Amino acid sequence: MFSYVIIGTGFAGSVLAERIATQLNKKVLMIEKRNHVGGNAYDSYDSQGILIHNYGPHIFHTKIKKVWDYLSNFTDWYLYHHKVLGVIDGKKVPIPFNLNSIHQVFPKNLAERMEKKLIENFGYNKKVPILKLREAEDKDLKFLADYIYENVFLGYTTKQWGVTPEELDPSVTGRVPVYVSRDDRYFQDHYQGMPKEGYTKLFERMLNHENIKILLNTDYKEVLQFDLETGEAKLFGQKFSGKIIYTGPIDYFFNYKFGQLPYRSLNFVFEQFNQEQVQEVGTVNYPNDYNFTRITEFKHLTNQSSDKTTTVKEFSQEYIPGENIPYYPIKNDRNLELYRLYREEVRKYDNLIFIGRLAEYQYYDMDMVVAKALKIFEERIAK
Ligand code: FAD
Ligand code: UDP
Repeated sequence: MFSYVIIGTGFAGSVLAERIATQLNKKVLMIEKRNHVGGNAYDSYDSQGILIHNYGPHIFHTKIKKVWDYLSNFTDWYLYHHKVLGVIDGKKVPIPFNLNSIHQVFPKNLAERMEKKLIENFGYNKKVPILKLREAEDKDLKFLADYIYENVFLGYTTKQWGVTPEELDPSVTGRVPVYVSRDDRYFQDHYQGMPKEGYTKLFERMLNHENIKILLNTDYKEVLQFDLETGEAKLFGQKFSGKIIYTGPIDYFFNYKFGQLPYRSLNFVFEQFNQEQVQEVGTVNYPNDYNFTRITEFKHLTNQSSDKTTTVKEFSQEYIPGENIPYYPIKNDRNLELYRLYREEVRKYDNLIFIGRLAEYQYYDMDMVVAKALKIFEERIAK
């Protein structure tokens, strides 16, 4: 009866379920251990009626027209450009650190010299990862790089990951490069916005199809047994010969046989205020102060009007299986090596498709997961 079982109802699982149900007219069973669909993009209204992101702030942005067009089938957009300020020496400056930040932090003459040298060395409108900028030999650029490293990256990264920027794959801090520009937006992608009625509504529209059945509150291992020896699967005790699409943690699927893949978890602390607004932009980062990394005020993101407001503080913590949620794969050489061992296992079975942030141990943004799901559908499922 079911041709596909999909484990997880985040973007990876939901895009594939929607494609298979509507394009192939095949039946899909989705198994989700939480009590709702949407994975970490899930949002809901809190007790004072503010739309919050229960698993941390999610801002949609993409360069990929195909992804934007696809999701636009399920939502209209509030055209939002995210802005972030970082508290440095008591001042709030634009993050990514850019030419405006330089002028806010340094005396005029020095700031002008730095600006000129950045433009000469890298070009206007160019993005320079902090670890690359630190290689600069020019005295002013070196001073600037060390200042940004120490005041923007070192404290934040140590809080967020428990290690220094050098101990992580350079692509992690490279997500927020120094920007040789006066553009204060966090992202420069062509398409940016927030689903007008929230992410959960978007997911509900995607999954509302007679070919899709969803089993919530269920760890897949309760109903689906996959025999690692033979590659045979049983669903509700009966032989299942369809395909399994898995979007949960890859190490859990293989019973941690090579050891646990490290992740970071987060503790979200929501605060409600009886006032219209508490901070000037969507997110304020605290690289150097306090033990949380950032505070996000949802109304900036969603454009909701209310005389009340809600914020979330993010406290990073170690991931402990069974106790908290694995939010971030920790990209470094050792962990990627361990991930490769698991990936080789997946390749042994032709009834398994692993996709998503956890199943591929990748630091994917939402658009990359959607792009990957559309690609897998076209290349491996629909062909
Ligand atoms: P998930 O959304 O994690 O979905 C996986 C699903 O599988 C979950 O629902 C989980 O419950 C389920 N599952 C796991 N194990 C099992 C099991 N054993 N049995 C049954 N079900 C299971 N991206 C952006 O583009 N912009 C942002 O601003 C942004 N902000 C983020 C902020 C935070 C704090 C975090 C953590 C991520 C952020 N992301 C952002 C990334 C975004 O969350 C991911 O790209 C996206 O959610 C990945 O989708 P997914 O389907 O791969 O995984
Ligand atoms: N980062 C930092 N200081 C900042 C912002 C980012 O050190 O003010 C580093 C930090 O290591 C962080 C990474 O850059 O984890 C990626 O930041 P991003 O905002 O993309 O993280 P996410 O939104 O995925 O949590």
